[in-house]
Amino acid sequence: MSDSVKYLLNEADLPKFWYNIAADLPEPLPPVLHPGTQQPIGPDDLAPIFPMSVILQEVSTERTIEIPEPVRDAYRQWRPAPLYRARRLEKMLDTPARIYYKYEGISPAGSHKPNTAIAQAFYNKQEGVKRITTETGAGQWGSSLALAGSFFGLEIEVFMVKVSFNQKPYRRAFMETFGATCTASPSDTTESGRAVLREHPDSTGSLGIAISEAVEMAVQRDDTKYALGSVLNHVLLHQTVVGQEAMLQMEMAGDYPDKVIGCVGGGSNFAGIAFPFMGERIRDGKNIEFIAVEPSACPTLTKGPYAYDFGDTAHLTPLVKMHTLGSTFVPPGFHAGGLRYHGMAPLISHLTALGFIAPRSYHQTECFAAGIQFAKAEGIIPAPEANHAVKATIDEAIRCREEGTSKALLFNLCGHGHFDMQAYRDYMDGKLVDQEYDPSELAMALAGLPSVA
Ligand SMILES: *Cc1c(COP(=O)(O)O)cnc(C)c1O
Repeated sequence: MSDSVKYLLNEADLPKFWYNIAADLPEPLPPVLHPGTQQPIGPDDLAPIFPMSVILQEVSTERTIEIPEPVRDAYRQWRPAPLYRARRLEKMLDTPARIYYKYEGISPAGSHKPNTAIAQAFYNKQEGVKRITTETGAGQWGSSLALAGSFFGLEIEVFMVKVSFNQKPYRRAFMETFGATCTASPSDTTESGRAVLREHPDSTGSLGIAISEAVEMAVQRDDTKYALGSVLNHVLLHQTVVGQEAMLQMEMAGDYPDKVIGCVGGGSNFAGIAFPFMGERIRDGKNIEFIAVEPSACPTLTKGPYAYDFGDTAHLTPLVKMHTLGSTFVPPGFHAGGLRYHGMAPLISHLTALGFIAPRSYHQTECFAAGIQFAKAEGIIPAPEANHAVKATIDEAIRCREEGTSKALLFNLCGHGHFDMQAYRDYMDGKLVDQEYDPSELAMALAGLPSVA
């Protein structure tokens, strides 16, 4: 068999529905609470920040939700996305494992994020919204929403975490090319931003702070809503096109994954590839292991407690139960900017607590080493975030070699690293060090967790 094995679907195989794992949960998600009353909130409480169709998806327990035709039309530009068998990597590792990866880097923004950006822009447009505010870490989400805003005729205002704003000037240029505006966060354009700057004038920013700024700006105007690129149920829902396609492609390959692997920041790309398979595990008892990989410098799932917390630093958002490092936690400025969030998707947190997901963490230099090994074998330079999934997959493949077992490993190559070459440059120049989070800062952030009766 040739080295490059690619499984391509026809346009007709583009999913018509998103898969909603809420329908299959053995126990329902804990309720989302109002930050003031600590009572469960209803759809109306979220209406100032999200369009109603998105809110209804957020709370839906229907197993399948139809993908609107204009959204499928936009998806068709790059979907169905290819699935590859990594034969050259298998040879390089001399492993009996069968390694597959789903490649989301072929989207126009270079990652999985347009899968939800397109959907959210569509629903906002449909409900008469003119402007969407958002935050972005490494810039992938801001880029994706900028693109979607351009497709659907919406103004996009992005608050970009300052450390990434400075590290990745081309991301800002990307967003501005599509007509979006991009402001470094914390900024002096919002009360939340000014409050942070008063206390920490040199703040490098965090997703929690940028979310506060974006939400604050959204609630001020009736024609403006807010969009989140990860964490929430509806975002994870939109990403399930990834796993549904992968399921058909694994069938084409005549195989079925023993392990499904993804990196986790807020949890959306992992959910995208994992949830359709996890549904089969929950419903039919399929024997699959799910591995969620995070950076050791921001170890939400592996070190953070499962507790009610705010999604943002200024405490403008409702309380959700999730693995969290505390909403005021600012992780060290490592390069996998997309993995720097203090919290984790409630669905991922819940499924981890129920024992369906095995989390693990790696330091960044070992992830870059894995990413470079992957690039040499497969010809694709992964995003620094995706390198965490690559590292875990390579470790699992080596374990197969050592144990003499042949397993099918499937991971989500959620984005390419073409905007991240400075990080690769730094790694190759020996300038990247494995940063530790400050345990006293973490303790302080955790001490600030809200007490929920
Ligand atoms: C945003 C991003 C992530 C992290 O977000 P998730 O919601 O956990 O997927 C990971 N990889 C890439 C390429 C990203 O753009």
